[in-house]
Amino acid sequence: MALIVQKFGGTSVGSVERIQQVADKIKKFRERGDDIVVVVSAMSGETNRLIDLAKQITDGRPVPRELDVMVSTGEQVTIALLAMALIKRDVPAISYTGSQVRILTDSSHTKARILQIDDQRLRADLKAGRVVVVAGFQGVDEQGNITTLGRGGSDTTAVALAAALKADECQIYTDVDGVYTTDPRVVSRARRLEKITFEEMLEMASLGSKVLQIRSVEFAGKYNVPLRVLHSFKEGPGTLITIDDEEESMEQPIISGIAFNRDESKLTIRGVPDTPGVAFKILGPISAANIEVDMIVQNVAHDNTTDFTFTVNQVDYDNALRILEKTASEIGARVVHGDPSIAKVSIVGVGMRSHAGVASRMFEALAKEGINIQMISTSEIKVSVVIEEKYLELAVRALHTAFELDAPVSQEKN
Ligand code: ADP
Ligand code: ASP
Ligand code: MG
Repeated sequence: MALIVQKFGGTSVGSVERIQQVADKIKKFRERGDDIVVVVSAMSGETNRLIDLAKQITDGRPVPRELDVMVSTGEQVTIALLAMALIKRDVPAISYTGSQVRILTDSSHTKARILQIDDQRLRADLKAGRVVVVAGFQGVDEQGNITTLGRGGSDTTAVALAAALKADECQIYTDVDGVYTTDPRVVSRARRLEKITFEEMLEMASLGSKVLQIRSVEFAGKYNVPLRVLHSFKEGPGTLITIDDEEESMEQPIISGIAFNRDESKLTIRGVPDTPGVAFKILGPISAANIEVDMIVQNVAHDNTTDFTFTVNQVDYDNALRILEKTASEIGARVVHGDPSIAKVSIVGVGMRSHAGVASRMFEALAKEGINIQMISTSEIKVSVVIEEKYLELAVRALHTAFELDAPVSQEKN
């Protein structure tokens, strides 16, 4: 008998019919004798709808504590509906919100981190033969305030519960049948991966592949939770996220996947007097405003002045531009430029470590399509480039082909 934590995402619980299908599926697992803890998201579209309501009443700037009180209701609806559907099928079940379980988090509303999970209540219910249905995406802080874990946070709830309960597997059920070489909605010839290492999955998630929330992968790697991504309603092995196996990685393809992010924007400050401390003068005020900087490029000085470019999330663009213009006048820089709509494309793979020339192969493929590279950043297992947003899909497809990731034409897709 196994203990399995299963998570069903928004589209998988997007209607009464789908919730009924999920209940049927869980019933089958129960009949095999497995203990099941289920984590569910809000019905698809619901979290967006709630955030939109909050924005309407606050001119776009809801108080984070109250926003959390509201958006957490999305998941409260689905846990109750799923528990009802299970009970109706004679499967004993009970639902809990994050605070009822006591998923203790810090107090950073809208992006809280899980600190501790009390597993007593869950264990008692499992022992009594119940399926436990837990609301994803939410927790409670020391003072009893409701918190949420950031978009896509139900993945993290599931992995954290699996770690706390030492579950045999954490299964993430979604609307694709695994992790693909790239988003199958963008590249129809993307291929499902049998397995992918935690390290690569973390890099893919961080670079924009939102099939798993970044923190859920971090958590799974840290606590060694066996993690699998599967289709909610189609049979299949899905994709296993595994520990890196040195021997096997020698035979791995150079590139495992291609990630992309459309949410970034770029800022450049030109003609900056090239003196020690200048990077700090430019980025200090940006970080003081709680804006996260992603890529940074500083050019070699010329005429004792230099150019400095960095990227931030699009939501922070206006704010960052204002701050940078102020800094420019203070330090005597010549001019500030901004581009709110760039895209970042990244190739990811542990196989890169043992192969030279990966970056140049990437640049060659982009050059062939006439795509200009604006910024480059590399690490041991990835190369990222910033390009004009309108070329994003072309770039991803060209790279997918150049690194021989395309599925045979006949392979059936989701
Ligand atoms: P859920 O609501 O179940 O959490 P998400 O929308 O968060 O589902 O994640 C699933 C989606 O992730 C897929 O529909 C797919 O478009 C997208 N995605 C992006 N990159 C990948 C990838 N490399 N492999 C599979 N899916 C991906
Ligand atoms: N409902 C939340 C969201 O849409 C959490 C999740 O689905 O994982 O971001
Ligand atoms: Mg998700």
